[in-house]
Amino acid sequence: MTKFIIITGGVMSGLGKGVVTSSLGKLLKAKGFTVTAIKIDPYLNCDAGTMNPFEHGEVFVLKDGTEADLDLGNYERFLDTDLIGEDNITTGKVYRSVIEKERAGEYLGKTVQIIPHITDEINRKIWQVADDTGVDIVLIELGGTVGDIESMPFLEAVRQLHMDVGEEKNNALFVHTTLVPELDVVGEQKTKPTQHSVKALREIGIEPDIIVGRSKNKLEKSTKKKISLFCDVPEKAVVSSPNAENIYRVPLILQDEGITECVMEGLNLSKVLEEKENICVEKFHQMEEWKNFLERFENPSSEIDIAIVGKYTELEDAYVSYEQALNHCRAKTRTRINIKYVESEELEEKDGPEELLKDVHGLLIPGGFGDRGMEGKIDALNYARTNELPMLAICLGFQLSVVEFVRNVLGYEDAHSYEFDEKTPHPVIDLLPMQRGIDKMGGTMRLGADRIMIDQGTKAHDIYQKDEISERHRHRYEVNLEYKDEIESKGLLFSAYSPNKKRMEMLELKDHPFYIGCQFHPEFQSRPMKPAPLFLAFVETILDKNSGE
Ligand code: GLN
Repeated sequence: MTKFIIITGGVMSGLGKGVVTSSLGKLLKAKGFTVTAIKIDPYLNCDAGTMNPFEHGEVFVLKDGTEADLDLGNYERFLDTDLIGEDNITTGKVYRSVIEKERAGEYLGKTVQIIPHITDEINRKIWQVADDTGVDIVLIELGGTVGDIESMPFLEAVRQLHMDVGEEKNNALFVHTTLVPELDVVGEQKTKPTQHSVKALREIGIEPDIIVGRSKNKLEKSTKKKISLFCDVPEKAVVSSPNAENIYRVPLILQDEGITECVMEGLNLSKVLEEKENICVEKFHQMEEWKNFLERFENPSSEIDIAIVGKYTELEDAYVSYEQALNHCRAKTRTRINIKYVESEELEEKDGPEELLKDVHGLLIPGGFGDRGMEGKIDALNYARTNELPMLAICLGFQLSVVEFVRNVLGYEDAHSYEFDEKTPHPVIDLLPMQRGIDKMGGTMRLGADRIMIDQGTKAHDIYQKDEISERHRHRYEVNLEYKDEIESKGLLFSAYSPNKKRMEMLELKDHPFYIGCQFHPEFQSRPMKPAPLFLAFVETILDKNSGE
């Protein structure tokens, strides 16, 4: 019988509910349980694919091609698991299913309403994940904040879910994450916002079993006491989650606070555990590995600077998977990796690349859309290519490195990607054939994991040590094969491609310490204990190159 943990948020968004959810999942997995996580996003978009990273942060691509909320990236990294589209439920998806069913006549004769039809559909989607995975515990993180109009049907649905699986049967519990602010002047921790938010929960029939208090400093004993008294939860179920130096520390903080025991008790999990005794011993090891990872992460012995050139550099969350992939390399190589964000438009100014890149040890050009700052990225690539600066280019970066090479080495000055210049006489990057005729924007790119073949004797093969790999994609354009032979004759080699050899997947420059590009997104598959091979090779090359300095 699957058990459910429902994580809600109070007072305000941005409290790191996703990290709390991921951390709890990690702790339970380490205890020996099988766990999966669902993210509920109460917006009307069917998925995150059509949202601007400026507003919503990075779009995380799952292996099945779902364009999901970035929290799913955290779940995958913490739980070391691959999720699928069903694990991200949005209002858009729920309403779409209900309206399709209504048109198909499934509710014939009925008035279709938010309660029970939308709420039933929400629970059907949750049960589908539980049944398909057959895990011991499903974590359900409800995005947004209690009190939001959009969240109401979801709160009602999980209230019913809790009632259905039965309070007495210990099969579901509510964790409420809330803000406990501190007044600057006296540093006093204020519990009133938490009290109000729990009151709002109560009004809709939900009683929290555990309250996670997000605060600047650890919750004082007296604060816990107050929350316990006013919110009617035992004191030991008030968990302190102060600001952490890094997100990987949070599972250990929550463990020290006794959250695992609270959940074990609340869901009567020791019984489940007894039946799984042998698995427990093996999995318990996982927390040791995590601690070891954290120790390496927090005690670097060397330091490098890497520039990420992009156009969403002001929003912290826009490049979160790239940052995490570098963090995984940081632990593996014990290297502090300082990221210097460079606005691509700034590179377009005179001497831009020289000025902005002269002090960094490596350059990362991430994926992207839209032509703002395009020439700046091309200038940065030119600088890296001609100055032996290690460079890793991903998706759009890969495409632009082809444009740069064709323009400056092959001499076709007006070469471009068809995405940015439909009139170019040299569309070295062209629309994918399967994209022709597509005019709808949602979920129509080439998306998800696909097979990639790697040529032996290439740097790519040295890095992956495999003839075939699988990586995730998100793009509409690709290398135009008409230019392939000419490009390769001048020293830029396409080292990996699709099984039918029609789609170029990786490129590398022979005479350069590290000038590698890939059409896919390696950052999505990087995990704390298993950094993405391309990122790791990039960092290791930089370290080797600078070891004599
Ligand atoms: N805009 C490019 C394309 O659609 C690159 C996409 C990306 O970087 N994810 O092909």
